[in-house]
Amino acid sequence: MNEVCVRVALRVRPLLPREVLHHHQVCVRVVPDSAQVMLGSDRLFSFDHAFGPTASQDEVHESCVRPLVESLLDGYNATVFCYGQTGSGKTYTIGGGNLNEEGGIIDRVAQDVFLLLEEKRKNSDGGEAKVGVSYMELYKEELRDLLELHTIHKELHIREDERGNTVVVGAKEMVVTSAEELLNGQCPAPHRHHRNERALQPLPHILTFQLIQCCHSNNSSLKSVRSSKLCLVDLAGSERAGKTGNTGTRLKESVHINTGLLALGNVIRALSDPGRNRSVHIPYRDAKITRLLRDSLGGTAHTLVVACVSPSHHSVAETLSVLQFASKAR
Ligand code: ADP
Ligand code: MG
Repeated sequence: MNEVCVRVALRVRPLLPREVLHHHQVCVRVVPDSAQVMLGSDRLFSFDHAFGPTASQDEVHESCVRPLVESLLDGYNATVFCYGQTGSGKTYTIGGGNLNEEGGIIDRVAQDVFLLLEEKRKNSDGGEAKVGVSYMELYKEELRDLLELHTIHKELHIREDERGNTVVVGAKEMVVTSAEELLNGQCPAPHRHHRNERALQPLPHILTFQLIQCCHSNNSSLKSVRSSKLCLVDLAGSERAGKTGNTGTRLKESVHINTGLLALGNVIRALSDPGRNRSVHIPYRDAKITRLLRDSLGGTAHTLVVACVSPSHHSVAETLSVLQFASKAR
């Protein structure tokens, strides 16, 4: 298996109506027919993909997320992160609960998983498959179950099983049989804002598709079981703690959020270092988010970072730091 490093897509959202109304200037542009982005008139950054303000949700999904769904069906783990400052389009991009044009990555992945499983069955190279979904949030380095809102105050613990898979003890898993069931149905849809009265700012959300496939090997009655998962992560805003004048509880939340983002940045940088030899230490243990995603980052797992930025000149400083982080992550 060739080692697949971290892929990075950069997405610039359009100016919002109120930004147009207040005459915000556009300070970041995608260089046409390239995967490069220009900040101001002279700072150029390169990515694996770059999407401008007119790129559709479908385009983003088709070009960089669908391959991960295909690899999920082939038995590999993968993770997609949306990274960027608050208001840059992370939640819009990750989506959830929306099966129309506006649907984001969660919606399209849900549809793809069942579509591709069906195709596989038709080509009779697929056996039985089970799709389970779990959905969690991280609050101050504690993992909470968003599928069990009555126990949301209970902290979940991460363990590693004998095969090196990360397991969240006691986390609820919903078995789903269609995208509609997941997105219209009983499952609390990600886009519906969970009124988390304890948290003052958006928290990291992790939605995981766990796929178990049973295949009968050719002309034998032997059954092999393959398990793989795809984690879709809406990270907290990347803006620095303190910068926005945070104090008290909000500052404490920011410190934890920044610990997580910093640890994630370190893991991603370690993984994407071209000169890395296999024995180099990857600092997974430094934060909950990296412990949780350990089996879906590095190794044979595929990682995609979708870095989101606002085009407005008001955000130029944050946009610069996201462009620097993201261009170094690949
Ligand atoms: P974040 O989750 O990073 O804080 P949001 O996803 O909430 O940001 O986006 C902020 C605002 O911008 C929302 O009103 C959202 O609908 C809008 N928006 C973000 N990205 C796009 C896009 N690509 N096209 C149109 N509107 C967008
Ligand atoms: Mg958000």
